[in-house]
Amino acid sequence: MTIDTNLSHADQVTQNLSQVRQQVEQLAIDAGRDQASVRILAVSKTKPLTDIQAAYQSGQRAFGENYVQEAFDKYHALAELKGIEWHFIGPIQSNKTRQIAESMDWVHSIDREKIARRLSEQRPDNMPTLQVCIQVNISGEESKSGILLEQLPAMVELVQSLPNLQLRGLMAIPAPQQSFATQCQVYQPLQQAFLELSKSDSMIDTLSIGMSADLPAAISSGSTMVRVGTAIFGARDYAQ
Ligand SMILES: *Cc1c(COP(=O)(O)O)cnc(C)c1O
Repeated sequence: MTIDTNLSHADQVTQNLSQVRQQVEQLAIDAGRDQASVRILAVSKTKPLTDIQAAYQSGQRAFGENYVQEAFDKYHALAELKGIEWHFIGPIQSNKTRQIAESMDWVHSIDREKIARRLSEQRPDNMPTLQVCIQVNISGEESKSGILLEQLPAMVELVQSLPNLQLRGLMAIPAPQQSFATQCQVYQPLQQAFLELSKSDSMIDTLSIGMSADLPAAISSGSTMVRVGTAIFGARDYAQ
């Protein structure tokens, strides 16, 4: 990411976004994939509405948020932006499911039966089915979020049985790894599980992996949706 101090912040977001798009397309081509096969989720957590508006003006539609209250407030504040799509990607407490069910289009961080059931029960009748990914823990004890791969079949069955949820795929946040090779190695079992699942259910088309720091490995490992914050909006003020 190049920082041009002569640009306004909105122009900087626009420029970063276009660089990230080019990078993602090139990485898909390098991995022998269709250049349009990877969607970009712009992770706007902690960032102001003006940043989201700038990205929207440049054609970005999918935005990711981690904190329930912030996500809910932004959803309402930007309700007039046609086609904007809100993705919840953070940890979920059971007393916060209603706000998520009443505002988000997608939830990537389903990792407990209770949360899945509540989201389905609380989804308003006048909203489309909530699109969800199951979060998988692929880093063992280093991660507190996500189910283990061996628990995946039971969780898939549960989510598929809930009327107001539509299972779209898998999500993971691996512990940081030094090299491209190690990053790919950590993603390998997840990619395998995703390929098997997607063969069994045509609605399962989303592998939500890859952040600013590991885009090449994630795209080479079959990511269909990268969650990019820093490379689009710049560093966040506090560690997230
Ligand atoms: C913050 C966050 C991101 C974006 O991370 P960057 O390193 O800023 O690209 C992606 N996914 C999740 C779950 C996050 O919490």
